[in-house]
Amino acid sequence: MSKIAVIGTGYVGLTTGACFAHIGHDVVCADIDAGKVERLQRGEIPILEDGLDNLVHEGIQNGRLSFVVGAVNAVQDCEFAYLCVPTPQGADGSADLSYIEDAAREIGPELPSESVVVNKSTVPVGSTRVVERALGRSDVAVVSNPEFLREGSAIHDFLNPDRIVIGAEDQAAAVKVSSLYLGITAPVIVTDPASAETIKYAANAFLATKISFINAVAAVCEAVGADIKDVALGMGYDSRIGHEFLKPGPGWGGSCFVGSETLLVRRDGQIRLVRFDELFAEVDSTGADGWEALSWRPGEPAPEFLPVSRFTARPYEGDVVDVVTKMGRRITTTVDHPFVTSDGLDDATPIRKLGHELTTDDWLPIAQHFPLVIDHPGHGRILDGLAAAGLDPEAVIARLDDLQVELLRQRAEVLPAARRRDALRSRTLRLSEMRLLDIPTLRARFGTTTNGTYVPDVVPFDETFWRMIGLYLAEGHIAEDGARRRICWSFHPTDEAELVEAVRTFWEGCGVKVTVRRLQTATQVSISSRLLAAWLDGVLGVGRSCYDKRIPDQVWSAPDADKKALLRGLWDGDGSWSLIAGGPSVVLEYGTVSRALADGMLRLLGDLGVVARLKVGRTAKSTVDTYWLCISGADQVESALWLLPPSERAEIGRSTGRQAKRIAPTGYRRLTQKHAAWARVASVSRRQYDGTVYSLTVPETHTVVTSFGLVTHQCFPKDTRAMVRIAEDAGYDFGLLKGVVTVNGEQFERVAEKIVELLGGEVEGKRIAAWGLTFKARTDDLRESPSLEILQRLAARGAIIRGYDPSMPSGIDGIEVVDDPYAAVEGAEVLAVLTEWDEFRWLDLDKVADAMAALNVLDARNLLDRAGLLRRGFEYRGIGRS
Ligand code: NAD
Repeated sequence: MSKIAVIGTGYVGLTTGACFAHIGHDVVCADIDAGKVERLQRGEIPILEDGLDNLVHEGIQNGRLSFVVGAVNAVQDCEFAYLCVPTPQGADGSADLSYIEDAAREIGPELPSESVVVNKSTVPVGSTRVVERALGRSDVAVVSNPEFLREGSAIHDFLNPDRIVIGAEDQAAAVKVSSLYLGITAPVIVTDPASAETIKYAANAFLATKISFINAVAAVCEAVGADIKDVALGMGYDSRIGHEFLKPGPGWGGSCFVGSETLLVRRDGQIRLVRFDELFAEVDSTGADGWEALSWRPGEPAPEFLPVSRFTARPYEGDVVDVVTKMGRRITTTVDHPFVTSDGLDDATPIRKLGHELTTDDWLPIAQHFPLVIDHPGHGRILDGLAAAGLDPEAVIARLDDLQVELLRQRAEVLPAARRRDALRSRTLRLSEMRLLDIPTLRARFGTTTNGTYVPDVVPFDETFWRMIGLYLAEGHIAEDGARRRICWSFHPTDEAELVEAVRTFWEGCGVKVTVRRLQTATQVSISSRLLAAWLDGVLGVGRSCYDKRIPDQVWSAPDADKKALLRGLWDGDGSWSLIAGGPSVVLEYGTVSRALADGMLRLLGDLGVVARLKVGRTAKSTVDTYWLCISGADQVESALWLLPPSERAEIGRSTGRQAKRIAPTGYRRLTQKHAAWARVASVSRRQYDGTVYSLTVPETHTVVTSFGLVTHQCFPKDTRAMVRIAEDAGYDFGLLKGVVTVNGEQFERVAEKIVELLGGEVEGKRIAAWGLTFKARTDDLRESPSLEILQRLAARGAIIRGYDPSMPSGIDGIEVVDDPYAAVEGAEVLAVLTEWDEFRWLDLDKVADAMAALNVLDARNLLDRAGLLRRGFEYRGIGRS
């Protein structure tokens, strides 16, 4: 019998320790969690696992099993040290090895000579070497012995395994480890460490493939009127296929962006720059149908709009990473969010890395030149702003031109006689009357009953318009005084006469009264119009003050000349250029306190081929960040000269022309072969976050262009990512498995949608009962639970969720957990059965029917008595059953 130390007393460690003690070894289990160790010493089992308590009590009683705090206290005289510490998996499958490395570093100096360290945690290929390095002991062999137990039947699986896999460079060490399993009958596969580690991942990936496969078949069954239960049964009798893992269900259990990050989306031909949280509020009612997101295919010259297959949001409490690149672009994601990275060299193949794995050796792509989709009508309609201003068409007065007066004369009989006379005399109508008489708005001018300035309905979207908007974004604001609104541009009292003229002539050209006032500190151009203010703010969305300014979405689909005119207006208003250290180097700068404006400007510049650097900082006395856009490096400056007035261009051109050496900005490269600009990671910091996180799926490319034009990988559901990632790192594109991952993601959505359907399409404020919260039956493990993935999506959409689970979990965000299945269904409009606990089959359906407010059941595990439910008048939805 051997002396074994087990490091980590979780699902795997405690099972391993208790089972090894059971078959006769002397086992000391260690954990860093002192409370857990104290409970175990008293014989209290911290996890739910069938039969585990008996084995632990047996081991404590016969003295073969003991528990200590701290790995060093377990290994003093051990022959084998089993590492069973967590390897939290990230979004693209790579594992966080820090727990393993810490444990190995800790025990390295304490291990007796000639002892063997066995790794039972699930680790990426090559981790055996990592453990060897962390141990720093040449006399200690490191062996891989992956664990295949299933939670819920862990003891049974450990003592009756299908096979035992041992990976070792040193055959003698492998034989020693296999001898520990004496008495357990199973084939032992001895191989090298890389093969042992791959076996674990490949087995998991294959099982996930089976689940996704049968879930996809279930979708077909629903469409063709077949029953998945029979289909799976019929398939399973084929001995090459087998019955295991052919049960459809809610999918297998996800990485994300925080709500303030942005993306460019297109729907019905309209391009918009939106925050994830704003977008989610909208897609909540539309689903993913018809939405496209700007995405980038590595190696392609430009990003493109591609269909989104799903959007998700879920509450998240955990760590996020703030990733900042050398060109100042920044993004915050969950720690396990995958990024597209390269080493910044032309011949490098982009790979995926998780947020927390990024280092300053990584380079991230920046999207530029997005496809020119000129799809704007060439003009704006000011009356579109009525709704945004909350203005009643009754309160809007139209002044008619001759043609319209003529139409009024012809059609006026609809109006009461007095009103008709008045209208013809004053040549005005209320907007509501105009609509009634079907008189086109095109040639009229509009004002409100309380405001004297009249504006046209139609404004041309030409270069002069966009430059005027640029000047507004730089120098304008909307002042509010009761119901009155004034749009103001403030310029230098004397030096900016040309800008004053640009604004004045544009609006006077549209027939709008403009006031120009010379004040002591500024020359102010203003227009008093509630209608115009409502349109600028509510339809163009330019913002009212320096803090909420943003680029109007209408410009995304405008010709380059319009985009340039907008940016020129911004730069004319607030931009500057200066010589660096007296020249000849030049820097062009623009500062704003609006993150949204900086985001939009960086993207617009990127579309026009100018990659600006972003600096974020606080000026003295300021309480908010200022975002500085800086264009430097002779080539970049020369490509951006159009931002400046012609008189200044020549001077700058002379200066950059003198630069013998063309120094490009550091940490930024344009790769010709890879058709992309890449920025080097400057810092990655981790912090605690508690809030909603968002994700989306672009099935064609798996990438999305996010804030400040940074390209990241899309979010990925967990598990099988490991294999995809391992393959990818080894240069193989595992398309089949990527499909498996996509099907799984869709499965969550399909189940959630079935629930929404049962609720009649409305989720907000509706009560949903959930039976089953753990990731599978007979365990209390909530990690990667599909049930929670689905419920938290619904909670984020305003559903009130009450859940019951036999393992009695607590502290789940967005779900009230009760201790009785009937209490869970009280007043609910849908009961969702999400985990396959056997006891749900035997519950009293009459009692359930009496308690529910509406008789709807979504049975994601096809577990309940369908006929019994239908008999009681329930609307029943299973998976793969028509
Ligand atoms: P777990 O989170 O349940 O338990 C890990 C335990 O290790 C915790 O109690 C933690 O306090 C302890 N720990 C962390 N660092 C330590 C240190 N330095 N010294 C002592 N104790 C330390 O994890 P788990 O589910 O048991 O999984 C462990 C490993 O086994 C993971 O790599 C996992 O992927 C793999 N695995 C899990 C399962 C499963 O079904 N849970 C199955 C097969 C493989």
